[in-house]
Amino acid sequence: MQLIDGKGIAQTIRADIKQDIASLKIRPGLAAVLVGDHPASKVYVRNKRKACEEAGIYSEEHALSEETREPDLLSLIDKLNNDPAIHGILVQLPLPKGLNERKILDAVTPQKDIDGFHYMNVGKLVANEIGFYPCTPLGVIALLKATGVKIAGSHTVVVGRSNIVGKPAALLLLHENATVTLCHSKTKDLPQMCRQADILVAAIGQAKFVTADMVKEGAVVIDVGINRTADGKLAGDVDFEAVAEKASAITPVPGGVGPMTIAMLLANTLQSAKWARGM
Ligand code: NAP
Repeated sequence: MQLIDGKGIAQTIRADIKQDIASLKIRPGLAAVLVGDHPASKVYVRNKRKACEEAGIYSEEHALSEETREPDLLSLIDKLNNDPAIHGILVQLPLPKGLNERKILDAVTPQKDIDGFHYMNVGKLVANEIGFYPCTPLGVIALLKATGVKIAGSHTVVVGRSNIVGKPAALLLLHENATVTLCHSKTKDLPQMCRQADILVAAIGQAKFVTADMVKEGAVVIDVGINRTADGKLAGDVDFEAVAEKASAITPVPGGVGPMTIAMLLANTLQSAKWARGM
């Protein structure tokens, strides 16, 4: 069994980004917008900021109060859309109730939408055209490629159909020529579906949900889940110890998909800066 070292693979990607930025002599810029007091979001934004610094990406953070009104948020986004030092705008989700998430995400110009949440980029993903795609699913593809897993022709089963993870992951895998089955909470006989997978991607949000009896011998298992168990520990959506006995390759949690998400965010920001310069 091969342990897929997401942390190591992400470090290599981040080092390549750093080198690329230095040799191109450009200064990509990322603005993170954080509304309200969400402890987990604060940690994510802090980690993203640190990663930017290390890579040579300028970053700024806009922390707004929980009571921020929609027009004020939209006017900040408009300012960032027009700021030539900023190539990526990230609006940290979830937004407080009362703010129209779709309206806010679509206010970010598609050219700086490095999370790939704007309708325009969602459409480009569906059409398999060049655009910004969501970072976690991009991380899943990068992990598979770095591990030498053959995606084309594989039967890939994705469990979870969120707009942020499951659905875009299924589309990216389809564009990599996998035969994709997308499962969700209404899927009949989910264990039987999962057992057909050469590559199984779990993006469910329930600790240790995927058990060994749901996995085919020799399958590649990618665990996107990040969950807190009752004892406060981090756990993925996959019952790691038992599933590792059957899988040919598997990602750990933490240290699997998680670090890749940030690496892909940096990669998208660099890409945006290159496009802004016509590169
Ligand atoms: P989400 O929006 O809650 O979506 C969960 C999906 O799982 C839904 O499509 C749901 O089906 C499906 N599901 C739930 N229970 C199920 C069941 N019993 N059987 C089959 N399908 C079931 O979650 P998300 O945002 O996609 O996140 C999924 C997990 O990934 C979470 O643990 C999250 O923390 C983690 N995550 C990690 C990263 C990272 O960087 N590693 C990034 C984002 C998210 P329905 O659609 O039918 O309800």
